[in-house]
Amino acid sequence: MLENNFKNNKGVLEIGGVSVEKLAQKYKTPLYIYDQKLIKDRAKCFVENFKSEKFETEIIYATKAFSNLYVLGLLNEYKISSFDCVSKEIFVALEAGVKSKKIHFHGNNKTKEELIYAIDKNISLIIIDSEDEYFLLREILQEKNKKIDCLIRINPDVKAETHKYIQTSNADSKFGLNIRDGNTEKIIGKIVEDENINFVGFHAHIGSQVKNLEFFKEEAKIMTAFTKNIQEKFKVNFSHLNFGGGFGCKENFDDQDLDLVNFLKDLIIFMENLFEKNKLEVKNLSIEPGRSLISKEGSILYRIGSQKKTLESYPLIFVDGGMTDNIRPGLYGAKYSAILANKLDCEKNQTYRVGGKLCESGDILTEKVKLPNADRDDLLLVPYSGAYTFSMSSNYNKLP
Ligand SMILES: *Cc1c(COP(=O)(O)O)cnc(C)c1O
Repeated sequence: MLENNFKNNKGVLEIGGVSVEKLAQKYKTPLYIYDQKLIKDRAKCFVENFKSEKFETEIIYATKAFSNLYVLGLLNEYKISSFDCVSKEIFVALEAGVKSKKIHFHGNNKTKEELIYAIDKNISLIIIDSEDEYFLLREILQEKNKKIDCLIRINPDVKAETHKYIQTSNADSKFGLNIRDGNTEKIIGKIVEDENINFVGFHAHIGSQVKNLEFFKEEAKIMTAFTKNIQEKFKVNFSHLNFGGGFGCKENFDDQDLDLVNFLKDLIIFMENLFEKNKLEVKNLSIEPGRSLISKEGSILYRIGSQKKTLESYPLIFVDGGMTDNIRPGLYGAKYSAILANKLDCEKNQTYRVGGKLCESGDILTEKVKLPNADRDDLLLVPYSGAYTFSMSSNYNKLP
């Protein structure tokens, strides 16, 4: 949080009491910087406010947002209940010291090799994404004569207001089983009967950067009605409901931030009432925050190199990274802010575009930003960029 954490010392930004000038000298740029205290506070906020007397609650970190070993270890230490992992993220979480019973296995195309690995490691549960995947899983479990807890990912068909690439619950989404599809019940029927599967409940995730609580309430209502209906139809009781993540958070100075405390409290009260009204006994309710745990807590630091005027738009300043360390502006138009971290005391009298150094025209970090006069070797910091940046990074153009 730039507002209260970053201090100004001779016009140079400090993060957690350390000058970014020193960080750049010691570690070189581009540099991902995370503030451990902010991560701790954020984790605590989730754990303390998503709580109920009526059922057990779990905060499951969506590992993909930032899967650094040290940070996974911290979140584990800060009492994050579980870790949502895809593919080799399971390996990374185990390496970070997370117990296998705290790992949930996600993904829309889990390979046989990955499933075998997860089962052999005795992870906590697998979220089944399709009928085909269920067949593959059944074959492996029968062969090994093993039983495992599973959730089924359903698609509640809630079109959350966010970018198309981060919506996950449209009718044509690649994720989960659509509740309006007649086949979904038949597939569930098969899984209910399966002796190698302990089918504990449902999972849904409606998309990312969703800032309006109403969408989560709509999701909750649909999932509750659906669960109730399936329980009655198949005469079973499910203990778990997982609402996924996607809680929006501030990505630039103009963005509104989610009021997390009230958001979580409000959601809990809503769920308690909803379960009571529907006479649904849920033992375990979980959510899966990714970016809302790690995005505002991190930033990326660059050094400025060349500058250029073009025939149209604002002059460009180039940084020593770009889409290789943050692909989100290019991929789905994510808007970030920038500051000149070594010139905090200077007046912002120039409007620039900030470009990266990669061989792609779309490698623009921001289209318009007011900064002080920029010179070669100045430090440019992009705040609120801790999520889906390092984890989506590449070595395109062989940038180190
Ligand atoms: C990506 C994802 C999340 C986390 O999304 P955020 O927007 O980072 O909170 C949670 N659950 C599932 C299944 C996901 O795919």
